[in-house]
Amino acid sequence: MSRLIFLGPPGAGKGTQAAMLAAELSTPHVSTGEILRAAVSGCTELGMKAQSYMDQGELVPDELILGMVRDRLTQPDTKSGWILDGFPRNVSQAKFFDELLVAIKQAYDRVVNLEVADETLVTRLLGRGRKDDSEDVIRNRLAVYREQTAPLIDFYHNRHQLVSIDGDQPIEDVMAAIRQVIVP
Ligand code: AMP
Repeated sequence: MSRLIFLGPPGAGKGTQAAMLAAELSTPHVSTGEILRAAVSGCTELGMKAQSYMDQGELVPDELILGMVRDRLTQPDTKSGWILDGFPRNVSQAKFFDELLVAIKQAYDRVVNLEVADETLVTRLLGRGRKDDSEDVIRNRLAVYREQTAPLIDFYHNRHQLVSIDGDQPIEDVMAAIRQVIVP
């Protein structure tokens, strides 16, 4: 069983690696960005509230995210494991998550931190062509990452559960490095 948190800047390959690993381990891949994009396409209330933040590369407010994650992690398929990608995104989400895990009697095994240099991130994101991948939005997402998400590296490092991996390698090599550090 695996319960993993993927951390890293936008464009580090979290989504790609989390999806590959999830398929390999038959564990649900929980991407908050994907849940939000589906909500936007489905014109749900959540989607309508979240869209403007996403379009600008800002974080969607915690009050919309926390209930969404709680709902997802209390569905039956995530009982025996999950791979989280895109959450937590700031320290208050991480603290909420600690409480949620206690409440649902679960714990994460590892936090996988993918490291990639800024220049590579911008090139990768520009090549991806998602709606929020224009250059100014990308720059904002990187700034938001640095200010709000990067502090989670210390947050989890202090608990000795963080493993950092060089994400600036071919996809298969990153995958191989991740396989070596996760609890099977
Ligand atoms: P991602 O697919 O992880 O790059 O997320 C795309 C966008 O969704 C982000 O730029 C945020 O606007 C929003 N988002 C995804 N996850 C979160 C989260 N945990 N907290 C706040 N906003 C989020």
